[in-house]
Amino acid sequence: MPSTPTFSSHRTDIAGVAVPELARRFGTPSYIYDAGKIAERINDLTQFEVVRFAQKACSNIAILDLIRRQGVLVDAVSAGEIRRAMAAGYSPHPEKHGDPHPIVYTADIFDRESLALVVEQKIHCNCGSPDMIDQLGEAAPGSEITLRINPGFGHGHSQKTNTGGEQSKHGIWHEQLADVLGRADHGGLSVTGLHLHIGSGTDLEHLSQVCGAMERLAREVGRSLTTISAGGGLPVPYRAEQGYVDIDVYYKLWDESRKRLEEAFGHPLTLELEPGRYLVAESGCLVAEIRAIKQMGANTFYVVDAGFNNLARPILYGAYHPMSICAADGSSAAQRPANDVVIGGPLCESGDIFTQEEGGFVSTRRLPAANIGDFLVIEVAGAYGAVMSSNYNSKPFAAEVLIADGKAELIRARQTFEDLIRGERIPNSSA
Ligand SMILES: *Cc1c(COP(=O)(O)O)cnc(C)c1O
Repeated sequence: MPSTPTFSSHRTDIAGVAVPELARRFGTPSYIYDAGKIAERINDLTQFEVVRFAQKACSNIAILDLIRRQGVLVDAVSAGEIRRAMAAGYSPHPEKHGDPHPIVYTADIFDRESLALVVEQKIHCNCGSPDMIDQLGEAAPGSEITLRINPGFGHGHSQKTNTGGEQSKHGIWHEQLADVLGRADHGGLSVTGLHLHIGSGTDLEHLSQVCGAMERLAREVGRSLTTISAGGGLPVPYRAEQGYVDIDVYYKLWDESRKRLEEAFGHPLTLELEPGRYLVAESGCLVAEIRAIKQMGANTFYVVDAGFNNLARPILYGAYHPMSICAADGSSAAQRPANDVVIGGPLCESGDIFTQEEGGFVSTRRLPAANIGDFLVIEVAGAYGAVMSSNYNSKPFAAEVLIADGKAELIRARQTFEDLIRGERIPNSSA
C-alpha cells in the first residue's frame, strides 16, 4: 500500500497504453481498467483470510473472473449478480462443508426470482430483514444464514452512502436480535454468520465503535457463529491529500475482536472483509473526447462525450474525481497553461456536470488548456462507475476494456441501437 496517491493533470497513457490508441481502438467514451491496480489492492488485504468482493462496485464478468483467480470470494445483492458470479466461474456453494461460501447473497429483501435462485443453487444468504428469515425458513428449512445487523449508528461519505442508524433501510435493527433469533429457530435455520456494514468511507476512530458492536451482538447470537464479517467501506483516496487508510490498524482492531470472541466461544471464527470500492476504484478510468469548448460569461466549459449516463457519482453525491487532459496526438499537455474550467457532458439536463459539489453547485477544475479532439481522462472511476450507467437520452453503455500486461482487450462491447430498443414493441392495435 503506497502512502499517498499521485495524480497528474496531463496523463498520456493508461497502464502503459497510449490514450489516443485506446480511443482509436475502442471509441469514446470507454471505461479502461488496469488489472495490475486490482492485483495491488488485493495484495494489500492478505491479512484477512477471506476477502469477499462486493461486486456491485464493478460487476463485469471479466473483472469478476480476474478477482476470482486471485482467491477473492464474492458478494451478490441480486439474482443478476448471483448469475454474474456463476458466469465468471464461482461455484454457488463450497465443495466442503465449513469452507467459506464462494458467493453470499446480501440484501434486505428476497424478490421472488432471487428467493427461487438461492434455494435452487443453495446460495448462502445474509439476511437484512426479519421477513427474509421467515421466507427462507419456509422455502429452505435447515439452511445456514448470516444476519446483517444495523447497530443503530452509521457512517458514510455522504447521506446516501450511510448504511446504519435509524434512517437507513439496511439490516436488522439491533434491538430485534432476540426476536430474529427466535424466527430463525422457528424456521429451522442456523445462524452461522454475523455481518455489519455501516457505510462507505469508514474511518479508524469509528471502527472501534463498530468492533465493539460486533462483539456485543455476536455474544448475543452465541456459539453457532463461525464467521464474522466486517463489511466493506474501506475508503480510497480521490484526492492526493487524502492518503490511504492504515490496513494494519484496521485488521488489528477486527482481529482483536475476533480473538476475544473465539475465546468466548471456544472455537475458531473466520473474519471476512467485504470491500467493493477499495479493490476496483483506482483501476478504472473513463476516457472521453472533448467535443466543444464554450465560454459562458466568466466560465469556460469543456463539453465531452461522456455524461452522467456513464458516471453518475458527481451528480449523485457531488463526488470528486481526478481528471487529466491528453492531447489528441498523444503528446503531454504538461507544458500548456492551466485554466479553471467546468466539465460538462452531452445530456439534455443542466446537472450533467462532472465538476460539481454536493447539492449540485457547479465548480471548476484547474486543467491544462485543451483543444477539440483532445481527451479527458476521468480517474478513480472503476467503482460505482460503469455499473451505475443508464441509457438516459438513448445513450448506449460505454465500451469496457481491461489492460493486463500492457495488452488491452475489450470486455464489454459498446451497446448498439438494437441493444437500446431490445424488448420494446409497438402494439399491433395501434395500426
Ligand atoms: C456496497 C456494499 C459493500 C461495499 O462497500 P464499499 O464502500 O464499496 O466497500 C460491502 N458490503 C455490502 C453489504 C454492501 O452493500
